[in-house]
Amino acid sequence: MGTNIVKAYGTQSPTDSLKEINIQRRELTANDIEIEILYCGVCHSDLHTARNDWGGTVYPAVPGHEIVGKVTKVGAGVTKLKVGDNAAVGCLVGSCGTCASCKEDLEQYCLNGFVGTYNGKDKHLGGQTFGGYSERVVVDEHFVLKIPANLDLAATAPLLCAGITTWSPLRHWKVGKGTKVAVVGLGGLGHMAIKLAKGLGAEVTLFSRTPSKTKDAIELGADAVVISNDELQMGAVKGKFDVIIDTVPYVHDVNPYVTTLNVSGTLVLVGYLGGLEPILNTVPMILGRKSVAGSLIGGIAETQEMLNFCGEHNIVSEIEIIKMQDINKAYERMLKSDVRYRFVIDMTSLK
Ligand code: NAP
Ligand code: ZN
Repeated sequence: MGTNIVKAYGTQSPTDSLKEINIQRRELTANDIEIEILYCGVCHSDLHTARNDWGGTVYPAVPGHEIVGKVTKVGAGVTKLKVGDNAAVGCLVGSCGTCASCKEDLEQYCLNGFVGTYNGKDKHLGGQTFGGYSERVVVDEHFVLKIPANLDLAATAPLLCAGITTWSPLRHWKVGKGTKVAVVGLGGLGHMAIKLAKGLGAEVTLFSRTPSKTKDAIELGADAVVISNDELQMGAVKGKFDVIIDTVPYVHDVNPYVTTLNVSGTLVLVGYLGGLEPILNTVPMILGRKSVAGSLIGGIAETQEMLNFCGEHNIVSEIEIIKMQDINKAYERMLKSDVRYRFVIDMTSLK
């Protein structure tokens, strides 16, 4: 199989900064679409992967799974899009297609293992997959999304991960008019959770450690903000919420949030991967039939549903556009929770 060399930004170890490198893209198969990447969002998962926070990163690592661009080539069997169309790719580029999860459009829970857009197992070229911090990407059409024409391309990029990761649990736990939703953490995922929950008609509260984000949260659509390390404010929302979406990326005490759930309420962890500390107290869970759950991105059909919803409701991300060369500085700011509210790389800066 022939290959194309493209420019990318990647890291060679957990402690290196990201630098320009060359990677290979495959020649198109019949079902493949080649996309020239115009914008790529910067997700906290990119940073976790670059620095091997979760273990399992294969180097060199090229992050980026909030990809938007233009179709430059299509395989002979492609029907979804044509050359010149806008197109998007999120966190998934492959799954088995035949297991129970895939049959239910839950490719993210593929029982044979989904292929991540980066640091996944590349079934075509071997080695690991490389993400969107690059000039071009080649993806099976099943995993390519259509972008509603009215949406700004750069501000759409974050919908492909931050959007779908918060949309999927909002839909699964049936958020709509009358639902009381809370969001923990106002970063990339958190600000999309507010906009999407609001779009679905819910009443939305933000939990944040950062009082200076209060005004922004209200402008994003939140009805209220609770400063999470203020015990008085926390006590005032005891027993209030039906659904909480917790986007905090690092280990943190979940127990104070559980007590703010209503009877039968659910706290959905989407941020932190790993053991909880302090340990989870089951008393409020048992006495109020409360659940603590988790959720991973979303399937392809659901991602298209979310994009279409955003098109209809004019929902996009709040972004700060950066150059590819500024990615290492952007990671440092992300670590300080200083993102308002998603960095998006203008990929023409890599040319
Ligand atoms: P982000 O933009 O950095 O936002 C995280 C927010 O959490 C921060 O802005 C901050 O908000 C709060 N926060 C940060 N550190 C904290 C700490 N130590 N304790 C309490 N709050 C803290 O990150 P993101 O891109 O939204 O990603 C959030 C997490 O979701 C990451 O771990 C990422 O890997 C994960 N993720 C999961 C999925 C999935 O499928 N489940 C998909 C994408 C991303 P305040 O200033 O308001 O407190
Ligand atoms: Zn992500």
